[in-house]
Amino acid sequence: MINLGGIIDASTLDYPGKVAMVIFFRGCPLRCIYCHNHRLLNGEDLVEEHTLEQKIQDASPFISAIVFSGGEPFLQSEPLLRLASFAKNSGLLLGIETSGYYPDRINEFGKKGLIDTLFLDIKAPLSNTRLYELITGRKDVVRRVKASLDHALHADFDLEIRTTVFRGLVGSEEVEAIASFLSGFRGTYVIQEGVPDLAPEYGKGKLSGFSYDEIREMGVIASRYVDRVMIRTKEKGLEVV
Ligand code: SF4
Repeated sequence: MINLGGIIDASTLDYPGKVAMVIFFRGCPLRCIYCHNHRLLNGEDLVEEHTLEQKIQDASPFISAIVFSGGEPFLQSEPLLRLASFAKNSGLLLGIETSGYYPDRINEFGKKGLIDTLFLDIKAPLSNTRLYELITGRKDVVRRVKASLDHALHADFDLEIRTTVFRGLVGSEEVEAIASFLSGFRGTYVIQEGVPDLAPEYGKGKLSGFSYDEIREMGVIASRYVDRVMIRTKEKGLEVV
């Protein structure tokens, strides 16, 4: 059984250059102050795995990738493993979006060839445990994200690293610290506009967003350290800096 958060049958936004089905897994060990998918953090909608396998099989002529999102997909690692294996055997590319909270599972999936692209959040500089704790509501996250990043940098799948920015929380100083830490990284670094209206009640009043120009400037700063930088904004979608 999979505790399912929802499905997008065909998306051109979630896997670079591909049409992908997006499967959202319910549940997450973190409680990020700005979580855009907070409706998926709790609750239960149990679905048989074969129902999803059938859906993947029916869609496979029209899509070329599956993206597992959430919530945190690695929280339900056993059904995820079986579903990812099924999708891989159906000839589809596999993308997994993660907070990096489960490094051993990233390592295991990578070694089994069940990741083609990992979309990994780095929510704050990894030197700033206090800020990471403030954002995620948990104390033990940085050590795990560092281990996940280490696995991902040494694996043979593609890696996209993402940072969501909010004024007074994660801005140009933090983006520069993350980008300089990533110096020489050959994947894609994406700076995402944080949208206060999408945050859960416990975060809403504490958050304020940046303008397009401010986010673009962060992209320029990051591109001093990382070759391929993109920004994702409400105004212009995803663009290369
Ligand atoms: S890790 Fe992602 S899904 Fe989990 S609380 Fe944070 S933003 Fe939400």
